[in-house]
Amino acid sequence: MTQKQKHFETAVIHEGYDTKEMLGSLSPPIFQTSTYTFETAEQGERRFAGEESGYIYSRLGNPTVRVLEERIATLEKGEAGLAFGSGMAAVSAVLIALTKANDHIICSSGLYGCTFGLLTMMREKYNITTDFSEMKSKEALRNLIRPETAVIYVETPINPTMRLIDLQRVTEVAKEYDIPVVVDNTFSSPYLQQPLELGCDIVIHSATKYIGGHGDVIAGLVVGKKSFIDMLSQTTQKDIGGIISPFDAWLLLRGLKTLPVRLDRHCDNAEKIVNQLKNHPKVAHVYYPADDDNPDLSIMKTQMKRGGGVISFEVEGDKSRAQQLLNRLGFLKIAVSLGDAETLIEHPATMTHASIPFDVRQQMGITDQLIRLSVGLEAWEDIWADLEQALDQL
Ligand SMILES: *Cc1c(COP(=O)(O)O)cnc(C)c1O
Repeated sequence: MTQKQKHFETAVIHEGYDTKEMLGSLSPPIFQTSTYTFETAEQGERRFAGEESGYIYSRLGNPTVRVLEERIATLEKGEAGLAFGSGMAAVSAVLIALTKANDHIICSSGLYGCTFGLLTMMREKYNITTDFSEMKSKEALRNLIRPETAVIYVETPINPTMRLIDLQRVTEVAKEYDIPVVVDNTFSSPYLQQPLELGCDIVIHSATKYIGGHGDVIAGLVVGKKSFIDMLSQTTQKDIGGIISPFDAWLLLRGLKTLPVRLDRHCDNAEKIVNQLKNHPKVAHVYYPADDDNPDLSIMKTQMKRGGGVISFEVEGDKSRAQQLLNRLGFLKIAVSLGDAETLIEHPATMTHASIPFDVRQQMGITDQLIRLSVGLEAWEDIWADLEQALDQL
């Protein structure tokens, strides 16, 4: 968008797209094409040589996808964006691009399960080692840095414990050593948290979650400096090939238009449900970034706009109690994933985090009686009524 930068709520709707260039079409057209024709052999030569801009082949670029990439770059306050066929395609393209054999990575002490799996594979194949840290102080972080440390990789809020990492603290240390900081911003979306503004270098999203928002697409996004995004598009994206389809890019463009409206409602509902859960006798603990009892509340206030739509809580009892709760729900859905219109509930110890060994899970705070709730867009009274009747039966 030219001239003055528009507000976030305007950018989600207009950024990166000019109807005049597309025959006035209000909705961006879906360019469902694999390849693009050249008028002459010489034009093809110039396109491949990079002397003339224009499309060549849809793995290397597509106009519908381009709109999405420009939009997400603006929303995350970055120079450029790149879209992928899944969040994991984005995570793997970034981590492989930033590392070589025998390097070292420092990660937040909670990670998405498949990211953990990717790091395990990179250790086994390329001897790339990983240290996990809660990053509670600059000293703790400095102590882990080695000459071969290539990346600091952070998720905040940490799934499913909802603890937070102070991004400003991390970037201050990283800058002393010139190490790039990558943030998986899936749980917050750019509406609630903008890591690049806090000095981080690269943001990744599983767009499957809040950005898509309707449970109907798997996709990933990356935002960073133009030089980095260009390198990514010409190396790990082009040659590994985890691209997004034009239709899925269009679905994300549609989802993005309502991101601020949806997220405000997710947060409103989550705050209400947190209050109810905290007062229920069968609930032992509630974990939510914006809750007064969250030990990281001060970090939340400096780097997040609101607490988001995901809550975790522990029921009194054991694993079977947690499973009973899920089984007694009425219209609320038992499913992994998050950020959809439907409220989704899952049991991390046996689902999303089942591949983590029991004792490591305990250290991470993922007990057998912990439940994760992605609060949807339904009336909060209905969400609570269903949860309450299931809790009352325990
Ligand atoms: C879902 C998720 C991913 C993986 O994204 P996919 O789109 O499922 O490939 C990565 N990070 C976080 C935090 C997630 O929630």
